[in-house]
Amino acid sequence: MSNEVKDRRVGPDYPGWPDYAARALDELLRCNRCGFCVSVCPTYRATQKELFVARGRNFLAGKLLGSPGTGVGDQAEPVGEEDFVEPLFQCLLCGACEVVCRSSVKTNEVMVATRSHHWEKRGRPAFLRLFFDQLLANPRLLRRVVRLLGLGKRSGLSSLARGLGLLRWINARLATADELVAQVPRSFLRDRLHHLGFRRDKVGAGGARAWVLPRPHGATGPRLLYFIGCGTDLQQPQAGEAALRVLNAGGCELIVPEHLCCGLPPFSYGDLDAARSLAARNVELLSAFDAEAIVTDCGSCSAFLSRYGELLGLGAAAISAKVRDFTQVAMGLALPRLSGPVRVTYHDPCHLVRGKGVRDEPRELLRRAGCELVELAEADWCCGGAGTYNIMHPELSLAVLERKMANIAATGAPVVATSCPACIIQLSYGARRFGPKIEVMHIAQLLARGVTLAD
Ligand code: SF4
Ligand code: SF4
Repeated sequence: MSNEVKDRRVGPDYPGWPDYAARALDELLRCNRCGFCVSVCPTYRATQKELFVARGRNFLAGKLLGSPGTGVGDQAEPVGEEDFVEPLFQCLLCGACEVVCRSSVKTNEVMVATRSHHWEKRGRPAFLRLFFDQLLANPRLLRRVVRLLGLGKRSGLSSLARGLGLLRWINARLATADELVAQVPRSFLRDRLHHLGFRRDKVGAGGARAWVLPRPHGATGPRLLYFIGCGTDLQQPQAGEAALRVLNAGGCELIVPEHLCCGLPPFSYGDLDAARSLAARNVELLSAFDAEAIVTDCGSCSAFLSRYGELLGLGAAAISAKVRDFTQVAMGLALPRLSGPVRVTYHDPCHLVRGKGVRDEPRELLRRAGCELVELAEADWCCGGAGTYNIMHPELSLAVLERKMANIAATGAPVVATSCPACIIQLSYGARRFGPKIEVMHIAQLLARGVTLAD
């Protein structure tokens, strides 16, 4: 079965896809400009500008979408692109404002709606069309491109090009991405599965094939479908490898099917057709396999997969109901302790803590493993990574990151654990750029140390 997306528009099979503009207008009606959001917004803290907090952004969104009768929108007063593009696109979609908002305004949804509206009016730029339509919809091509970039980096060509300013000349985002990513792995997680003991087998409906790792002898743990996020596969395979080892050591049978990107990147950019197309295709691919849960080690994937039912309608609800973060599943397993105490602090990925509601599980897992957990101030503040935000908006991302790194430094812990590959990339960059010299790792990598000792 081909895993390419043939058609961006999925059609009427999934009638649940909401009317975003209408939803956003409903949300805007509830924004009373109280300003509670000001205290928690990382971009406001970094800029001190009213248009860089939910209150100001919602004001602009009202102007753009023409919110009637709220005083926040007025179609008779058109807003120029230069007035809203930066504030609306530079929202991290971290969701912090939504937690403190007493009117329950879903600013994230409003931002997505305004971005979608913007592309509808202006058309999507070529790099978004290439990334969302060609690369994310075609994992083989994406992997080839990343492999090529890795070759360039390892051979020193990209450093040379960066030094000569060539990358910036071709595209400033390319130069930023090159700086952010210290190295591209030689092998991706999917390439490593057979080394981990996985075998390809026809275990799905209609003979659908997947990689399978049986339970250890005598174990009775659950059968899990493991969803490999793009960041884990292509950038942080060691984190995914650790998660798979921990789950299997805990007695689980693991199935890794072919699937596409979860769809969150295009969704965040307001490219709703591309997001819907990826999501619908994934529902089809994942539904072919029977498992007790769908697990992923990427907080963003777990949060977005959990929204498939809401976004696509009933047909997808069975899939989203099964989605669990790695830490939620690991909590139910008997895992060995680490050999000695490790002082560690924990950074909450936005999508995991607010999107999926996972806050206690990682901390409890670290304690159970014998770690000394040093609580991080503003642990659930965005690190500024936010998917590809750090590439698209490097200056603001850096300002947000600097605050995060100062908080991490204050803990004095030698290790910071988290549960999202994008956060790992960003925090590692923060450690190189601002310090402290700290080990940044996925929580699964820390837990896997105990498994290695117990082997
Ligand atoms: S988004 Fe919520 S917290 Fe912020 S100004 Fe509007 S109502 Fe107040
Ligand atoms: S989602 Fe985050 S960055 Fe955007 S307005 Fe809310 S708190 Fe600020």
